Amino acid sequence: MQISVLGCAGGMDTRARTTCFLIDDDTLIDAGTGLFDLPLSVQQGIDHVFITHAHLDHIAALPLLADAGVRQRMAQGRGPIRVYALPEVLEAMHAHLFNQQIWPDFTVLPTPQQPAIQLVPLQTGERLEWTAGRWLEVLPARHTVPAVGYAVSHGGGAWAFTGDTGRNSALWQRLNAMHAEGHGVRWLVTETTFPNTDQSFADRSGHLTVSALAEELEALDAGEVELFLSHIKPGDMGAILRELEPLRTVAGQQRCRLHLLQQGQTFHFNGVPASSVENDIVLNI
Ligand SMILES: [Zn+2]
Ligand SMILES: [Zn+2]
Repeated sequence: MQISVLGCAGGMDTRARTTCFLIDDDTLIDAGTGLFDLPLSVQQGIDHVFITHAHLDHIAALPLLADAGVRQRMAQGRGPIRVYALPEVLEAMHAHLFNQQIWPDFTVLPTPQQPAIQLVPLQTGERLEWTAGRWLEVLPARHTVPAVGYAVSHGGGAWAFTGDTGRNSALWQRLNAMHAEGHGVRWLVTETTFPNTDQSFADRSGHLTVSALAEELEALDAGEVELFLSHIKPGDMGAILRELEPLRTVAGQQRCRLHLLQQGQTFHFNGVPASSVENDIVLNI
């Protein structure tokens, strides 16, 4: 199994795409603008999309994905693309996106019998084998709207993504428990949306600053973890990189190596050490 980063920015800029991860060649976590860079031939192979929450930077490309391969899927006798999320998130996307005005309702089109997408509800804490040998767990998140994170594995250590979240003690408790249960996180992709100067805005918008992440990280007790910062606003990258020192200290105490998540990186689950990720920028040094 492998996970490729199609987008991981908290906003848009030249070459900065928003959240979208490709698992192998058939599954997505979120459908932000990173998906716009995926070739059509790969888009048409997507069968599963796990959505963290309904904010636009995480779902912007989903309507176009629903449309992209629909006739080929029908011709091949494949079922709809399964779109998984919390029930409230599915309702919001159906009411405000696939509502026949902003975009056609692909939950009943091209035909109610053979729609392009199928909405599949998930609950926080749920653990499912979405295809043979590939496991996903729905992690808690605390945002301004219903939201989750996800952990993915196929035996052995997991790759986890916090999604958009503010301070979130339930997440750290669950990551610690997963470690104790023997399927702990090897890679943790966390959001770090704002610099410390925007702490009050971060609190109001359900996001983490660098210093809030450092405080949160003190609750982590999950062995060695490669920690990747993501969802940074492109205009704040310089400020955040200048604020890293306290976070570095805590990360070192908690046996975490700090990295800056990069669009284009790929996490390999088989035969490659967790510390080895392509095009890596390590922030510990
Ligand atoms: Zn959000
Ligand atoms: Zn976001």
